Amino acid sequence: MVEQESKGGLFLVATPIGNLEDITYRAVKTLEEADLIACEDTRVALKLLNHLGLKKKLVSYEKFSEEEKKSYLLDLVATGKKIALISDAGMPGISDPGEILVKEAWARGIVPVVIPGPSAFVSALVSSGLSAERFFFQGFLPKGKTKERLDILKELEEIRATLIFYISPHALVKDLEVIQEVLGNRNGVLARELTKYYEEIIRGSLKDLLQVAEARNLKGEMVLLVEGFSVKKEELPIEDQYQLYLDLLENRGYKAKEAIKEAAVRSGGRRNKLYEYILRKKEEENGK
Ligand code: SAM
Repeated sequence: MVEQESKGGLFLVATPIGNLEDITYRAVKTLEEADLIACEDTRVALKLLNHLGLKKKLVSYEKFSEEEKKSYLLDLVATGKKIALISDAGMPGISDPGEILVKEAWARGIVPVVIPGPSAFVSALVSSGLSAERFFFQGFLPKGKTKERLDILKELEEIRATLIFYISPHALVKDLEVIQEVLGNRNGVLARELTKYYEEIIRGSLKDLLQVAEARNLKGEMVLLVEGFSVKKEELPIEDQYQLYLDLLENRGYKAKEAIKEAAVRSGGRRNKLYEYILRKKEEENGK
């Protein structure tokens, strides 16, 4: 157990996700008082500091140098220096460097101080119109590695909470395709360029969003929110249950028995009814 002993020294400072006016008073004060600011991209940090009229010493702290730089920064904290950690946008540690530094800080008995502020997923969630009562933050799906992407999505499939994805603009179409394929054509929301000039929130089914993404070749920073899993209380029409069964069988590689079981659970229908219907269909298809 680590009890809080020292406070101060390492400050996790949230910065705007687009509109520079979203910086908090406390963030400005903390940056002003810091001896050193650790940041991802020094050019991005400079833009913010220039906007605030601050001239500060910067050190780059990015994903690939976290391990190497953490000791340097925490040694400085140990000598009484104030270190502020910022990322290119939003909250450090959320799909951005920070976690490794914070873990090491705790290991050394240094209690980090958070200076809260914008984060893209919270802003997207509360403005999406989807349930914010329960949500699951996935962040970015792994790039390219098909099996890893599918495995993660299968894990998310039955979560009864709004699912939140960060999307790289060049991966939008591919991500939407695979998400729709695994989770089905659920309702979704694409929150784009939040707090910026081209801010836009697009709502529709995942297929609708895919169509818009392709037609408009959407670019910029985006958060995708997807409605959580819900078992229908009323039974789906038997044809829809059959379709669900076929989807599970064909797209998801289920065995016939598992697919019937699963389709029955998801549709709220009865397994034996679906089974009889499948047999009838097969007989019809075989022209009997
Ligand atoms: N630390 C950040 C936070 O707290 O939200 C996230 C950093 S992550 C590297 C960048 C991703 O966040 C983008 O690819 C996008 O998915 C999302 N994002 C950042 N700014 C955004 C904005 N203004 N509008 C929509 N999404 C944004």
